[in-house]
Amino acid sequence: MVPAAPAPASRLVVAVDGPSGSGKSSTARGVARALGLRYLDTGAMYRAVTWALLQAGVSVDDPDAVATAAAGVVTASGTDPAAPTIHADGVDVSQPIRSPEVTAAVSAVSAVRQVRSQLVEVQRRLVGDGGVVVEGRDIGSVVLPDAPVKVFLTADNRARARRRTAQDGGADSTRDATAADLARRDRLDTSRTVSPLAVAPDAVVIDTTTLSLSDAVDAVVALARAAQQRAGDEGPARPEDGGVP
Ligand code: C5P
Repeated sequence: MVPAAPAPASRLVVAVDGPSGSGKSSTARGVARALGLRYLDTGAMYRAVTWALLQAGVSVDDPDAVATAAAGVVTASGTDPAAPTIHADGVDVSQPIRSPEVTAAVSAVSAVRQVRSQLVEVQRRLVGDGGVVVEGRDIGSVVLPDAPVKVFLTADNRARARRRTAQDGGADSTRDATAADLARRDRLDTSRTVSPLAVAPDAVVIDTTTLSLSDAVDAVVALARAAQQRAGDEGPARPEDGGVP
């Protein structure tokens, strides 16, 4: 018997969640490149809105002001995993969104219900028919609960602080400050009322503390291939699913 063809890679959706410094971005981009998928960084979207609000002088501690001002901010995400970009109101903010000012303010902005519903709608539109690796905090739990592949990356606090410090180009002496900032953001992201950082019940948890980047990518790619295989095994692809009848 001829085995059923796996679902086309171009329709696959992979949700990658986890806290800052867990290896999420590098792993998600590596998986997207390995599988020929797009890459969507939802954290960059929250950062872009935060950047625009700071530029406009909005107090991020005032949820009503944040909700009103954020409603007028248009983000555009470039989803090439080799060179992801993000624009806010037509301005390329790929670099400025990584500034300490934006990092300090983003958790307050992302806790505002209206901001979340606005960006979740954009995220679902961008995902469209699939073919994408989506990285964030609530992708498997809220944004894409039906994603066939869900992973939640973790790492111990020391490893996360070390990675974040290296990513930010900081000296080892700044690692304590980075660790404190990570702990502060974890607290805010896990305790907010709307869509807190949480492990989806059907997510596979991968601890990256002692994993190399290529090991982490391989682990997720293996899960993705297994999901494709399962989709293929469930029966012949239907034309409306983009498969061969
Ligand atoms: O991933 P990154 O560290 O760039 O995310 C920045 C912030 O954006 C997080 O600390 C969190 O407050 C928020 N975020 C979120 N939901 C997502 C992605 C990011 O609340 N899906």
